[in-house]
Amino acid sequence: MTVTPPVALTVAGSDSGGGAGLQADLRTFTACGVHGCVAVTAVTVQNSRAVTGIVEIPPSTVADQIRAVVSDIGIGAAKTGMLASAGIISAVTKMCDEVGLGTSVPLVVDPVAASMHGDPLLTADALDGVRSELFPHATLVTPNLDEVRLLIGLDVQSRAQQYDAARALHALGPQWVLVKGGHLHDDPECVDLLYDGSDVIEFTAPRVATPHTHGGGDTLAAAITSALARGADMPTAVRYGKHYVSQAVAHAYPLGTGVGPVSPFWRLRPADPC
Ligand code: PLP
Repeated sequence: MTVTPPVALTVAGSDSGGGAGLQADLRTFTACGVHGCVAVTAVTVQNSRAVTGIVEIPPSTVADQIRAVVSDIGIGAAKTGMLASAGIISAVTKMCDEVGLGTSVPLVVDPVAASMHGDPLLTADALDGVRSELFPHATLVTPNLDEVRLLIGLDVQSRAQQYDAARALHALGPQWVLVKGGHLHDDPECVDLLYDGSDVIEFTAPRVATPHTHGGGDTLAAAITSALARGADMPTAVRYGKHYVSQAVAHAYPLGTGVGPVSPFWRLRPADPC
């Protein structure tokens, strides 16, 4: 019998090294049983050491990709990753209204601003668009602590400040906020806080000692998006995503001479012999 799986859309940049960006999103969707569609926002020239070039896709082409996918294929959930510029953010925000992202379709906004090496993936003037245009449309936003500092100017050093950040970010308009604690390096656990404006749920996983965490944020947001596309409620989707990414970090592998990616292979059976 032919079965069409649930469908998710990622609005994201390409990573030529294959560790993060739309490549991480698509393989996460696959490993989570979801068909992945893509609206490409930018092509990055990237390996395990650095991002050395970015070519942006015209904002109208980003919007056209979203419209083409939603109008014909239909999607159960969407996520945004690298949005590159203020123009692309405005185009994506307009599409939220046009096709119902964040209303009829859950929208996960991963506010990607820079690579783990500190290379910018968003122009400085675009941060305000993330805060004031895109966040009010988001079903969930998933900032790490570097992104929290950029977005609201709070330098989170403790669990208590993570709570403060969740409240301040929720005031910007998203339905749910997930403040990720992975960057609190002295904490033996990685605790992420999910907040809906009234209740906080903590999601905890042991900290894994690995330098290879490239694509971790994308993978978490993509796994959550997969679960939403399959009809899960938000706390269930975040629990699913946290488990998925914790296993992916535990199985991360070296690649190239720099930082390797988190791995989807823990979810896949060993490859058949060639
Ligand atoms: N490159 C692209 C295209 C991305 O979308 C992202 C994150 O979303 C990154 C690089 C950065 O990934 P990391 O911070 O894990 O290095």
